[in-house]
Amino acid sequence: MTTAASAPTATKPEHFDVLIVGAGISGIGAAYHLKDQMPGTSFLIVDALDHYGGTWWTHKYPGIRSDSDLYTFGYRFKPWMGEPIATAEKILAYMGEVIEENDLGRHIRYKHKITDASWDSDACRWTVEARRLDTGETVHFTTNFLWMCQGYYRHDKGYTPEWPGMADFKGDIVHPQTWPQDIVLKDKKVVVIGSGATAATLVPSIANEVAHVTMLQRSPTYFTPGRNADDLADTLRALDVDPKWIHEIVRRQRLHMGNLFTGRAFSEPEAVKQELLAMVRASLPEGYDVEKHFTPKYLPWRQRIAFVPDGDLFKGIHAGKASVVTDEIDRFVENGILLKSGEVLEADIIVTATGFDMCVLGDIAFTVDGKRVDFADTVTWRGMMFTGVPNLVWVFGYFRASWTLRADLLGDFVCRLLKHMKAKGVSKVVTELRPHEQSQERVPWMDPDNFNPGYLMRAMHLLPKRLADPEWQHTQDYMREKEELPKIDLDSDVFHYTKAKAAAPVREPTPA
Ligand SMILES: Cc1cc2nc3c(=O)[nH]c(=O)nc-3n(C[C@H](O)[C@H](O)[C@H](O)COP(=O)(O)OP(=O)(O)OC[C@H]3O[C@@H](n4cnc5c(N)ncnc54)[C@H](O)[C@@H]3O)c2cc1C
Repeated sequence: MTTAASAPTATKPEHFDVLIVGAGISGIGAAYHLKDQMPGTSFLIVDALDHYGGTWWTHKYPGIRSDSDLYTFGYRFKPWMGEPIATAEKILAYMGEVIEENDLGRHIRYKHKITDASWDSDACRWTVEARRLDTGETVHFTTNFLWMCQGYYRHDKGYTPEWPGMADFKGDIVHPQTWPQDIVLKDKKVVVIGSGATAATLVPSIANEVAHVTMLQRSPTYFTPGRNADDLADTLRALDVDPKWIHEIVRRQRLHMGNLFTGRAFSEPEAVKQELLAMVRASLPEGYDVEKHFTPKYLPWRQRIAFVPDGDLFKGIHAGKASVVTDEIDRFVENGILLKSGEVLEADIIVTATGFDMCVLGDIAFTVDGKRVDFADTVTWRGMMFTGVPNLVWVFGYFRASWTLRADLLGDFVCRLLKHMKAKGVSKVVTELRPHEQSQERVPWMDPDNFNPGYLMRAMHLLPKRLADPEWQHTQDYMREKEELPKIDLDSDVFHYTKAKAAAPVREPTPA
């Protein structure tokens, strides 16, 4: 339905005003905002995959769906018309419409894995190297601005811990991120390791087909069961209200409720914990050991809370097709998993729903004026720019609210910044600490007492640092950012602007 931009054959780099890395929900959103707010800007979206969608194209395990509602995970500018929790297929169809309606397809270059990006302060531009995954060829692009929408994890493989005895297991070991489409589940005994959103999605969606599925967890996760419907949206639809209004009203209502909930999770965590557990208890069979299997060790919202649409996970448990085991793995054995308790969980298939492998800025090797950038040595400006790294913004969404809310906010911010630079006649912008901030303590990207999932903890040492001042951190606070970002003074002493010294030869940009 969408045609990709024709692949380059030229050895000479192609130049674009803006290069967007990634054709996921952030990258497609970035392209929309550029086209909408800065018509005439030349841009290219580059992606290593062979299709748009990012997360929603990579993950193909049974039942794959969002765990946040699409009124807020959907774009601000494109009404969502379906059920709040959506399958990957529906999210892809929605993104496909955005691409089609805005003629973005011709700006996308698939099967191009970006490996290197080097900034030259004289020319004020990035030179980007990409490997074509279809031909093996190396190609180069130059760009004035890098809009990094590459997400936050490696798409080619998920995270699987090494357990002793894995080679002894006679069945199949699969990771949801690289789900084999030809795997036969019928009448098989399946053990799913993990209890995050992926496990909670997979377990109910295969429960009817398999002989039995066990969710094996070391420690429990918070779940909220609820109807996959939105009463307000349904009422407004019945009243024939314009879909744009419905989108905006439902979005505001959900954001308001989400904000209240997040506030309470921090101000009265014990009460919120008990409410969450009460909902889970009500969904499970009488006498079920909720304390052992569904009571997390951490306080609510320190990790994502998995929404269980229509309580499907609990229905599987009621039906006796699914069960939960809370224990630790001692080792894999020929016919399954030996647990620390001494029990053997028999399995034909073991699914390692153990999460993803976080990476920083797409594993691209960055240099600035010949010097290699280690992002762990930088300080982040509002979780989007980095000290010493010019003309680059990373779209990193929210943990406790829908990712796309931030993609839209940063879309506005980047366009405002680019317009400002044009008006000032400058070609380079970099954020730097003020003199009094230089000596302030630099702490890891995220406070583990605030948010601490395993993937983030494993990668924290690779991520940029933050300071105590919210200006130098990713606050994870949509309500705050929605007010603050549009008002940021782009001439404050945080921003350092420069004019280009030498103009490098530029090829004619692709018409936008
Ligand atoms: C299974 C799953 C479910 C999730 N559900 C939700 C949810 O319900 N709500 C929510 O808010 N968040 C959710 N998330 C988080 C989710 O990743 C984001 O919400 C969002 O989809 C990220 O979009 P993105 O475009 O920023 O990144 P991605 O979707 O990760 O897309 C990035 C794209 O960049 C490309 N890329 C990366 N590096 C390079 C490179 N070097 N060269 C070329 N291309 C590159 C990748 O191929 C990919 O296509 C979920 C994550 C997972 C894994």
